[in-house]
Amino acid sequence: MRQLAFELYDDSCLTGAIQAIKEDQTEHNSFIVCHLFCGSGSGDDCLKVADALAKELPERSVIAGITSNAEFLNGRMTDQVLLLSVLSFDDSEAELVYGPDIEHNAKDFGRNIANRVMSSDAVKAVELLLCNPGVQILDIFKELETCDHRIQVFGCMPYAHDPFNDPLFVVVPGNVSYAGGIAIIYKGSDLYINVDYTSGWKAIGRNFKITKAEKCKIYEIDNRPGLDIYKKYLGMSEEDEFHNVSFEFPLIVNREGGDMLRHISGVNKDGSIDLDGYVEKGMIAKIAYGDPETIIDEINKRCAVVASFAPEAVLLYSCVARRLFWGALVNNEITPFNDIAPTCGLCTGGEISRDSFTGEIMWHNVTIVSAAFREGEKKRVVEPPKIDVNGITGQTLVVKRLMTLIRETSIELEELAIRDGLTGLYNRREINRIMDEVMSEPRLTSLIMVDIDHFKNVNDTFGHNAGDIVLRGVARELQKAPTGSDSLVGRWGGEEFFVVLPGVGGDAAVDIAESLRRNVAGLDFGETGSVTISLGVVEVSENIDWSKNAARIIKKVDEALYAAKAMGRNCVVRKEI
Ligand code: GH3
Ligand code: MG
Ligand code: MG
Repeated sequence: MRQLAFELYDDSCLTGAIQAIKEDQTEHNSFIVCHLFCGSGSGDDCLKVADALAKELPERSVIAGITSNAEFLNGRMTDQVLLLSVLSFDDSEAELVYGPDIEHNAKDFGRNIANRVMSSDAVKAVELLLCNPGVQILDIFKELETCDHRIQVFGCMPYAHDPFNDPLFVVVPGNVSYAGGIAIIYKGSDLYINVDYTSGWKAIGRNFKITKAEKCKIYEIDNRPGLDIYKKYLGMSEEDEFHNVSFEFPLIVNREGGDMLRHISGVNKDGSIDLDGYVEKGMIAKIAYGDPETIIDEINKRCAVVASFAPEAVLLYSCVARRLFWGALVNNEITPFNDIAPTCGLCTGGEISRDSFTGEIMWHNVTIVSAAFREGEKKRVVEPPKIDVNGITGQTLVVKRLMTLIRETSIELEELAIRDGLTGLYNRREINRIMDEVMSEPRLTSLIMVDIDHFKNVNDTFGHNAGDIVLRGVARELQKAPTGSDSLVGRWGGEEFFVVLPGVGGDAAVDIAESLRRNVAGLDFGETGSVTISLGVVEVSENIDWSKNAARIIKKVDEALYAAKAMGRNCVVRKEI
């Protein structure tokens, strides 16, 4: 197979292109897949070209057009042209499925594609070119996910600068649709297609919880309007500033199976934010940034895979956020693909790929999806090209350095925020947070509260410094507790400590408490002598809902400790809840 590409500035370019395609078709008896990446002109302009191609290439071809934000040709990003990519197959074929209105008929469109996919054993991949990046698209994915996991899925949802004046479109001969979708089904017993996505954006700063969201909109983060985190952490003030900055600083949201990047497509008066992708309430989000080194690393890794696949053509779908991020350096991440095989592609608003293990079709932002094509055995394996990190200069380098500063500082601050300065143990807030996490699923757990006996006397007799040494010594001893790997010890406050023992029952916890008591009593603090501790123990059985009973249970542990004090100190008391 081959990939030919043409920039169509005027009718004569088109005539020349048609001539070349016809020659290729005659010479190779090939099947031809034409992509029109429309960075310039309206939907009607694109339709005219599609119709002209259809008229001249009536048989053994499919033709699909889609809005593009920038186009890739010869390893470079061009801006706002009409790019015609022609995949020319020797033995394989393609079938086009057109859905003029996926806003209302997403499920039917998806089913239709899935049925066609399932009707042939030779299908290798489905390319989706979809207008209207609304949540309906998930219905198309759901239908397609019923197909064999080995069927690759890739493609994109375009991005509109100005959806009202410059609407997104897809084009097939005879039709232009502003809410439609196209599927190109690639089939051939000797056709190989390798698809993956590449990101390189990293999370920075603290975790936020999405507390109110619907489909592609976040209403609230940490119970505040979603926009507030951008105002606070990125210092944004004017509403119209948000758009581009949020492209460069998308959200990274955590869901089962991995992270997803989401960039912001719009902001609203009520402080809610619109995303080019779906989210759900309860997801954890962080602000993300493009780290040049990681991006290059990921591109290099992907190119190594693509090179060893020995493709004859590559298609790229790259998020506009990457173009904004790289600025003049954007070709850095496009050229290497073209060094492997002729590469065409476009800048999009959302990218599509499929996880071959789970079969899930993923809707990405801020990635490059690359689809490498080959017919037959590997013919020519090229050395994987490498982007050189040293080539990065100027502002991108400054950003990289600043991000390292912020990241390293945040890690240190995060560590400081959860630790007690004197003993290095977790502080009370962190113990509470971990307990909420550990017990979010009902689980047998025991809790021990520890208090040093007559500790005031130590301070009064030997001074505060001697008191601090004792606190540190006791803390170290408590950490040696013979407990499981996920147990934790924290400083509850003053001379009180707290031990959480997940998976440990009350009887075993009493034994552990006893050994802690004995060990502490055995410590020798020199002139200060020794100290004793009193301990309260409570078992939380697996049928107790922690979130509803936390305060009551902690009070019970406190009561057990108080009872140990009342019994004369230096002892363990267990109480039932
Ligand atoms: P009890 O056996 O009833 O627990 O008697 P206690 O003396 O241990 O209890 P009390 O609550 O009367 O005194 C606790 C003391 O712990 C008072 C406070 O000054 C001391 N303390 C709290 N935090 C620190 C600290 O960080 N360093 C030092 N040196 N002392 C501390
Ligand atoms: Mg106390
Ligand atoms: Mg005490």
